Amino acid sequence: MNISTTYFDRIAQRILAAHPAPDLRGITILLPNFHAAQPLAQALMRAAQLPALLLPQMVTLNDWAQGIPLETQLVSDSQRSALLYQQLRKLQWFEHADLWSMTQELLKLFDELTQSLAVLPSDADEFATAVQQAYQAKQNATLQLEARLVFELWHAMQDGEELDAARAYQQRLATLAARATQPLYVLRASDWNTLEQNFLREYSERAEVVVFDLREMGIGSAGFAKQPLTPALSRLRERESNSPLSQAGEGLGGRDVASLENIFHSIENKTSASGNAPRFFAATSLEQEARAAAMQVRLWLQAGKRDIAIVAQDRVVARRMRALLERAEILVTDETGWTFATLSVSTVLDRWLTALQSDFYHHDLLDLLKSPFIFADMAAGERKSAVYQLEQLLRQHGVVAGLEKFSALAEHEIALHQPLARLRQASALLELGKKKTLAEWLSALRESLIVLGIDQGLQQDDAGQQLLRALDTWKQELANDQGRYRFHEWRRWLAQQLDTETFRDSSIDSPVRFTHLAATRWRAFDAVLLLGCDADHLPSVADGGRWFNDAVRSSLNLPARAIHSTRQRDDLLALLALNDCVLVTWQKDRNGEAGLLSPFLQILRDELEKNFAAFSDAPFPLHGGRNRFGANEQSDFNEYELHFYLAAEDAHQADLAQAAQPTPNAANEIIPASISISAYNSLVACPYQFFARYILRLNELDEVQEGIEKRDYGERVHEILQRFHERFATVSGHAVDELETALRQISEEVFADLLQQDFAARAWLARWYVSLPAYIEWQQQNETQGWRYAESEKSFDWDLEAVRLRGRIDRLDVRGEEKLVLDYKTQSDTVLRNKLKEPGEDVQLACYAYAHEAADAAFVSIENGKVKLVAPKEDMPLLAQLNAERLVSVMEAIRGGAGLPANGIDAVCGWCEMRGLCRKGEW
Ligand code: SF4
Repeated sequence: MNISTTYFDRIAQRILAAHPAPDLRGITILLPNFHAAQPLAQALMRAAQLPALLLPQMVTLNDWAQGIPLETQLVSDSQRSALLYQQLRKLQWFEHADLWSMTQELLKLFDELTQSLAVLPSDADEFATAVQQAYQAKQNATLQLEARLVFELWHAMQDGEELDAARAYQQRLATLAARATQPLYVLRASDWNTLEQNFLREYSERAEVVVFDLREMGIGSAGFAKQPLTPALSRLRERESNSPLSQAGEGLGGRDVASLENIFHSIENKTSASGNAPRFFAATSLEQEARAAAMQVRLWLQAGKRDIAIVAQDRVVARRMRALLERAEILVTDETGWTFATLSVSTVLDRWLTALQSDFYHHDLLDLLKSPFIFADMAAGERKSAVYQLEQLLRQHGVVAGLEKFSALAEHEIALHQPLARLRQASALLELGKKKTLAEWLSALRESLIVLGIDQGLQQDDAGQQLLRALDTWKQELANDQGRYRFHEWRRWLAQQLDTETFRDSSIDSPVRFTHLAATRWRAFDAVLLLGCDADHLPSVADGGRWFNDAVRSSLNLPARAIHSTRQRDDLLALLALNDCVLVTWQKDRNGEAGLLSPFLQILRDELEKNFAAFSDAPFPLHGGRNRFGANEQSDFNEYELHFYLAAEDAHQADLAQAAQPTPNAANEIIPASISISAYNSLVACPYQFFARYILRLNELDEVQEGIEKRDYGERVHEILQRFHERFATVSGHAVDELETALRQISEEVFADLLQQDFAARAWLARWYVSLPAYIEWQQQNETQGWRYAESEKSFDWDLEAVRLRGRIDRLDVRGEEKLVLDYKTQSDTVLRNKLKEPGEDVQLACYAYAHEAADAAFVSIENGKVKLVAPKEDMPLLAQLNAERLVSVMEAIRGGAGLPANGIDAVCGWCEMRGLCRKGEW
């Protein structure tokens, strides 16, 4: 029998003793949640021992209150938030603050101030009187500045007739208390807030109220002597009172200690009687914790457990654990839910607004277009191909941002016309430069989503539907709000709304569920996994304020975070008392720093260990000796089995093939028939690099350049020299001044567009100017040796039977019948000499010479104020012939199935973008 059954049976007996069966409709039982209704009903049936029973009303306080109709109109939180924001904006006290987050915090404090009123006002007049009394009491008190500000703003916001949610709840509870006639039974495991306590007090003035508080219901166990636990509780109290959290808190009263002592005993007794102590798994990383937790759930399911709760204190670990479970095809029901801000359905909104705000910066636009929710009315293949085409265009032409520029670029790409037109239309709807009301912004957003087909995409997803409903609800709620906001203010508001709105996926029904501590009150599960129970996450500090700290709360007599923490402790102990099979996980190492177990659990564990050591003859299976996996076990509560299973899983993965040096071969159909000089260079440098770049074509998506790079500089210098020699085929006979002036003028023209785009272009131009006089001097000497400029930028396409080799030479000079191929390089002569050191490593010059039947070829090094000719030492026609023959034989071998090994030398690998693909370093 589960321990929780004993508690429910006792409650049932108490109720039936006061209200004889079978008709219990005359009483109401307040439950912490609806999960407790079924075990309580079963306990009543058992205790009544009758074939039929008319059950009492079993309800949560909130649901009971919601059943009370109100005549006054309700103000939504979004309306209150907008009003308060406008007030704060008008005050101009916090010019650089994030006013939306301050607004949210203030509204929470206002609600707490409302709920902390000493009375339970049942209408607007009573409420006004109560507020006035609270105001007068505080008016003369010394309040710190922030507390005074909160209090005055709260007071100013309370004068309307309209009800906010906190006031509505208060009024409904007042009505329930005023109508009290029936006995009321209450099940709880931790303290209620002032408002709910006020309700109980007022109710009890008119009808009987009986509270079953788990903390006061210690159930003894035969055969296990109780040890006084007060020292442990005192330590817990001492630890809490030393904590900064509780400086302004109430701490533990005598009653708390006594009732908690009951719970501690219950946990010990249960542990002793059943041999099921909570077990602890200390992980060395987030990944290990998530893996261990997922493994434990799989083991429990295998053992036949069908109601498994995962109390997720650390949501980051929970996210990872959920992914691991899904990989094992175990879906998880989620009672807690995730905020919309963390879901992909919100990401598409964020990407859309980001792209809009950044003037369609190419990364933002591509991110948006890759969302599965956009253009949902297009066939998936059509959409993907349009996005691919656009991406190709952007990267090929290096356009960084601007929808109009993208449209001009795609003039001849019919498939892109419609998507780009829709983006333009949607963008026009938002009108970023204007100020609008929140409802107008939402309306424009909704229209733009329809134009972009995002609306349709979201409609096909559960979370998406809820998101669209939320947008519509906010629009309706804010229809009368007159405040006007700039785009960035509205976007911040929207982000905050998405961060507070929660999505719960009700479509999954699974034996495994994520939940949170407060939702486990009075619940028993087959197994419980307490996830992320380190000191940073338990107690959680989720309620901590960013703008108004505990001192402010204390000054306003509001419960400090210590109360929140105490409630979590009580809920935790209640959960442990009611459940037999519990695993606690936490990270003892967090990013290289030692992590601590939650103080609540550490004290409990110390105490359990101490008591079990004192009663070492107690039948406890995890104690001492060796376990069935052969590991030495200490007298502690550590989980050992999971380590074994994780190691087994690792060993299984290690059996998989090790990464090896790849040597792929390529199908004939994808081997290119024509290759460029740079492709040939790549083939020589590393066949695998050639395979990835030119056979798989993974290099096609070049990065869009946002600034000027060395490559641009080189290209511009080429263009300058080409234009210069079109004007001056020979420089001899021209004055140096004339040549320099002309060359500078051409240089300015060639750099003009770069100078407009990027300030750094001026530095590159200056770098060229340093070498400009040296270039004229070199050209003069070249002519003195009889060479004459013949042509530049001439393409060639050379048919080598097995393959075509294509390229373009920078310049060809002639001297009578002799030909000299020149290739401009903005690199030093030393670098170029190194390039040519190993004959055949650099194929460029030899291939250029061969293509133009030139006996000579050389690099022209233009760098750092010097211009030098760098030529290979080898016989050029022979080198060219050998290069051509090698290319033919290598391409034939590749077509014949030869592998393309990843064998680049370090100097090549250092600049290779395919490193992640060949996984050099892993083999
Ligand atoms: S990193 Fe080195 S081995 Fe790998 S593909 Fe590039 S050049 Fe070849």
